[in-house]
Amino acid sequence: MSPVTGPQPRGVYVHVPFCAKRCHYCDFSVARSRRPPIADYLCALTADLKEWFDGIDAAFRVQIDTLFVGGGTPSLLGVEGMASVIELLQTRFEWDPATVEFTAEANPNSLSQDVATGWRRLGINRLSLGVQSFQEETLTWLGRLHTAEQAERAIRISRNAGFERLNVDLIFGLPSTVRRDWSEDLRRVVDLGVTHLSAYGLTAEPRTPLGRWVDLGRVTMPGDDRYAEEYMEASDTLVEAGFEHYEVSNFAQPGQTSRHNWLYWDDSEYLGIGPSAHSYLAGERIWNVFHWDRYREAASSNESLREGREYLDDDQRRLERVWLDLRTTRGLDEKDVVGSAARGQLDAWRAAGWLDEGERLRLTPAGWLRLDALAAEVAGWSDRPAVD
Ligand code: SF4
Repeated sequence: MSPVTGPQPRGVYVHVPFCAKRCHYCDFSVARSRRPPIADYLCALTADLKEWFDGIDAAFRVQIDTLFVGGGTPSLLGVEGMASVIELLQTRFEWDPATVEFTAEANPNSLSQDVATGWRRLGINRLSLGVQSFQEETLTWLGRLHTAEQAERAIRISRNAGFERLNVDLIFGLPSTVRRDWSEDLRRVVDLGVTHLSAYGLTAEPRTPLGRWVDLGRVTMPGDDRYAEEYMEASDTLVEAGFEHYEVSNFAQPGQTSRHNWLYWDDSEYLGIGPSAHSYLAGERIWNVFHWDRYREAASSNESLREGREYLDDDQRRLERVWLDLRTTRGLDEKDVVGSAARGQLDAWRAAGWLDEGERLRLTPAGWLRLDALAAEVAGWSDRPAVD
């Protein structure tokens, strides 16, 4: 299927599948490489675009509003590699440099001043730094390559390069045996003046070192109480510092929400290129071959780079719509509450502090801790009441 025979994507995601080392908890599409094979990568991306635009006039360009180059570690591309990716994208997409939101991810150990300044000149206007923590012991335990000092320096470098929009990722919910001061990490984010924070709970995925440690009983993941406590602390601290907690895992200073991520949450269409990248077009979800080696081989032998696709049926779409609306401050229209049990529960949810007052159903941070259960009840998929 071509994106230009149906509704048009409003944003593009490019996956850069290279990291100098794999972190202990990571199950993303990543190949270990300090010097990414950029020529091979560009050839494979070219094949990916060719498959999307098969049979479409070469002069045709799709107008987009957002671009997101993520990974992996895009900062390993350097300035020249990123310039080549952008040049390739311009063969099929066009954007207004004055209004586009163009985000790229970087890891603190591979973001030099030259890379940051060069990227800014290329038109990237939002940086997302994989910091995870500003504490040495935590970074070592997570298997991160960078130091706490490099994390702070990356923020300074970004500012010097002229990036006013700056996201930092942090991980919380670590085992209690790791001496991590979560309050201190939150304070660093506030003091360093970043404009956006994504805070994700650590999960022990199968086939990762962390997953194996948990299976072997060498690591015990924290219980729900600790997770909830740190989550609520993040929300309280950041809201007090002027951030809006606008999505389950995301916080932004006024006017700084991620427009690209909103495409995922508001049912908009987007196109992904690169290994494991997902697309959503005309009601269909499509995902690419996951592993870099397999993706590169498929590209070089003219095989399809699509690994799977699915249409959601009406029930699945309804649950997805409910779940997406409830995960942001946009909230859900009350008429979309299908579950009869949930309709009778709304006052109890408000009394429990899970719902804000207001016309639309907007979950509070305490409600977001129960998002899956509440969404299933609202969509009529579960009649087991979340409040007894
Ligand atoms: S830097 Fe990010 S993508 Fe790379 S291995 Fe670590 S968690 Fe995974």
